[in-house]
Amino acid sequence: MASNPHALRSLAEWLGRIADYTDAITGRERFPIKNPATNEILVAIPSLTAEDANAAITNSLAAAKEWRRTTAQARANILHKWAQLISEHHEALAALLTAEQGKPLVEARGEITYGTSFITWFAEEGKRAYGDIIPTNAPTRRLIVTKEPIGLVAAITPWNFPNAMITRKVAPALAAGCPILVKPAEDTPLSAIALEILAHEAGVPRDLFRVLPTNSPAEIGGVFTKHPDIRKLTFTGSTPVGKYLMQESAYTVKKVSMELGGNAPFIVFDDADLDAAVAGAILSKFRNAGQTCVCANRILVQSSIYSQFIDKFTEKVESLIVGNGIDEGVSVGPLINKGAIDKVQQLLNDSLSQGARSIVGGHPFDSSSLFFEPTVLCDVTPGMPIAQSEIFGPIAPIIRFETEEEAVALANDTPFGLAAYFWTQDLGRAWRVSEALEYGMIGVNEGTISSEAAPFGGMKESGIGREGSKYGLDEFLEIKYTSMGGLGA
Ligand code: NAP
Repeated sequence: MASNPHALRSLAEWLGRIADYTDAITGRERFPIKNPATNEILVAIPSLTAEDANAAITNSLAAAKEWRRTTAQARANILHKWAQLISEHHEALAALLTAEQGKPLVEARGEITYGTSFITWFAEEGKRAYGDIIPTNAPTRRLIVTKEPIGLVAAITPWNFPNAMITRKVAPALAAGCPILVKPAEDTPLSAIALEILAHEAGVPRDLFRVLPTNSPAEIGGVFTKHPDIRKLTFTGSTPVGKYLMQESAYTVKKVSMELGGNAPFIVFDDADLDAAVAGAILSKFRNAGQTCVCANRILVQSSIYSQFIDKFTEKVESLIVGNGIDEGVSVGPLINKGAIDKVQQLLNDSLSQGARSIVGGHPFDSSSLFFEPTVLCDVTPGMPIAQSEIFGPIAPIIRFETEEEAVALANDTPFGLAAYFWTQDLGRAWRVSEALEYGMIGVNEGTISSEAAPFGGMKESGIGREGSKYGLDEFLEIKYTSMGGLGA
């Protein structure tokens, strides 16, 4: 398959820029960032320490004094400039993202566009941090509510969206008037560093937004959770790590936002437009090789259309092209690391030993690579581990159900509550099911639902708080009430 020469050239240029940028950090151990498709080392970068995190906190608090005094319009101008620079480097940033994360170039381009949309959205939303004047409870008094920047924000982000999970946190923090420090995932820090370089070029003061790459996450995480001057921790990642960080943050009573794991049901009722449902399932299941928190994790299909759905779905799965994401035409890239391959293989083996059948796929490509065949598993039952855990791989388990009540009960039978999807052409059912599902985000006849304009987040053990949309700004603001008295009768 042909590689994209322009993408390769711009990748080389950005790897050079990142090497130069990080060369300025001396006296720290370096760790290699590898391309999961080829196992080649892209670049080695310094691993920052608790000492660096503490220094960054001191510096960012100093920079914040000036920033919180600027107007929302002045902050918006800088954020728009940042978005513009990202757009000018769009193709290069997409190639960098594919190189460190593995997703196909077409998806990486989509992520850069999606990530940038949070910057332009919050540049404007920052102007709408409205307060209130509450009708007074005494003639001599006025009750005033204002919203203020919460203060220093710490962010910890995952590897599956190395660009968008950074901008979804950094843009609202800066727009709200807060400084922010980001610890990116150790597998994918390069997109974060590229965003930092461009933000500073756009005029974001250097100490106001810093990226702290490290291969000792607990070391920097410990500073983030314990330091009293960090007022807000925003985390995207797995539920176990999120719970741990919440506990640690309790000592200093930080405000936390937690975007955690999911176990999305994808329900196909017998009155659905089947071809549209199949197309939606392919998109929802195999995007990023199944490594998104909102991926269809369990496909629930009504009994009367079970075989028909499987035939159509399997035909589409067989046409997916697995390969290095930088090559044209690839639709499924590698998994992120060996641990991910082992987890997927284990879930598959457990399902097969408990009676599931693999219709297509079912194997890693070879023992040394990180590619796994897109797999369709039928005769899956709700109690199997694959239906209970977040798969994070290209396996589509299909479960049969009989009635609407059963489908809803199965869908809700999980501690997670992030995204759920269902397909029906019955308007009454659309309302009933959508109201019965215990999920933060619902797609009705939709396989992809994320947008900067809509609130992203989960219920139950999938998290706390919302990102994006008008609600996303509140996560970085404190409400202050002022009672102004002695005003005369
Ligand atoms: P993860 O293992 O929880 O890691 C997430 C981040 O936490 C990484 O930066 C990781 O650093 C860091 N980390 C791990 N242990 C830590 C500790 N003790 N102290 C401080 N930081 C620590 O999750 P992941 O495997 O990267 O990402 C996949 C998970 O993220 C899935 O569960 C997925 O559903 C979830 N996710 C949720 C959303 C959402 O919006 N709800 C979006 C995307 C992903 P290292 O990389 O160095 O380990």
